[in-house]
Amino acid sequence: MNRSDFPILQEKVYNKPLVYLDNAATTQKPQVVIDALNDYYLRINSNIHRGVHCLSQLATNEFEQAREAVRQYINAGSTQEVIFTRGATESINLVASSFGRTYLHAGDEVIVSEMEHHSNIVPWQLACEERGAKLKVLPFNDNGELRISELDSLITDRTKIVAMAHVSNSLGTVNPITEVIRIAHARNVPVLIDGAQAVAHCPVDVQALDCDFYCFSGHKMYAPMGIGVMYGKERWLNEMRPYQGGGEMIKDVTFEKTTYNDLPFKFEAGTPSVGDVIGLRKAIEYIQDISLEKIAAYEQKLLIYTTEKLAKIDRMRFIGEAAHKTGVISFLVGDIHPYDMGVLLDHQGIAVRTGHHCTQPVMTHFGIPGTIRASFGLYNTFEEADALVEAVVKAKNMLS
Ligand code: PLP
Repeated sequence: MNRSDFPILQEKVYNKPLVYLDNAATTQKPQVVIDALNDYYLRINSNIHRGVHCLSQLATNEFEQAREAVRQYINAGSTQEVIFTRGATESINLVASSFGRTYLHAGDEVIVSEMEHHSNIVPWQLACEERGAKLKVLPFNDNGELRISELDSLITDRTKIVAMAHVSNSLGTVNPITEVIRIAHARNVPVLIDGAQAVAHCPVDVQALDCDFYCFSGHKMYAPMGIGVMYGKERWLNEMRPYQGGGEMIKDVTFEKTTYNDLPFKFEAGTPSVGDVIGLRKAIEYIQDISLEKIAAYEQKLLIYTTEKLAKIDRMRFIGEAAHKTGVISFLVGDIHPYDMGVLLDHQGIAVRTGHHCTQPVMTHFGIPGTIRASFGLYNTFEEADALVEAVVKAKNMLS
């Protein structure tokens, strides 16, 4: 699928064709995104929202059109609810910090799940420490599925927010977030969804989901690094304290008192990464041109094909066998250390991730140091899946 749009995929590593299966860490960029960045710096680079001059206006227009493209992509009700950040990590930190300082008090509770990426754990831990609140954890079962039936009893009158991944980066599980949101809302508790592993792999409609916050990174959806989005319902964003202070986020500043700018600018202090925002828009258009539904269906086929082939390898153990998964396969072979396997795969041109994938509690759950993780993007092929399986067998024979 459109492989030639991605120049880097022609590269060789160790004189072997690159088989890039580390898409959960970051995706490669299509030529149109690279061109958009180039074009921005060649033609209209300037600071936005501030200058009356032509370049500044051109850049501002492009920047705000990108915000509209994001709004449409996730079906937000308004561009005021679309805040640009540096990535999912910064988006979650923004909410944990601003929501925490506005609503969290001593004795309150925050609920996360056992399968969260560290970036949806640590910001909440920091906020809880600062406010004297308590972090509670919804566990998952040995298939890597949330024990959703326990959520309702975990929620108490002191629960202020539930924060959960749409898709797990180390297990591949697609969580039943509609259900999570329904249960939490029935108890008047808002929900933040970490969509870092979802936005490039399944359609997201924040209004249909009715989530309160939705966070993601551009670089995992074929856009440049250093750009991300925090969607938040206007109601919360209006009430929440700003995250950072500086230019752009203010209305009036005196030494006695500062008033804040309207949304979304209240949460966008300082000069944003304008070129990257424009690149994000191009990536969205690129995905939409192919169609996210088509990408999702194709990646499902790759997932099933590869899982079935890997399963035939003696002493193969999958970590994460949820009924509903995206194209993420975490595995171990016998007692081979994931790092050793990763190095041998690399020497065969295959880029996979090894380790805990920033989800140490997941590894603790299974009592393992880490996994080998292959994760698919829209450009991966069945031949690459075969190459992975062959390379795993070869590495296993060398290491056993
Ligand atoms: N959440 C999940 C589920 C992730 O997989 C990642 C990155 O791997 C993040 C959050 C953090 O994303 P970033 O490093 O782009 O901020």
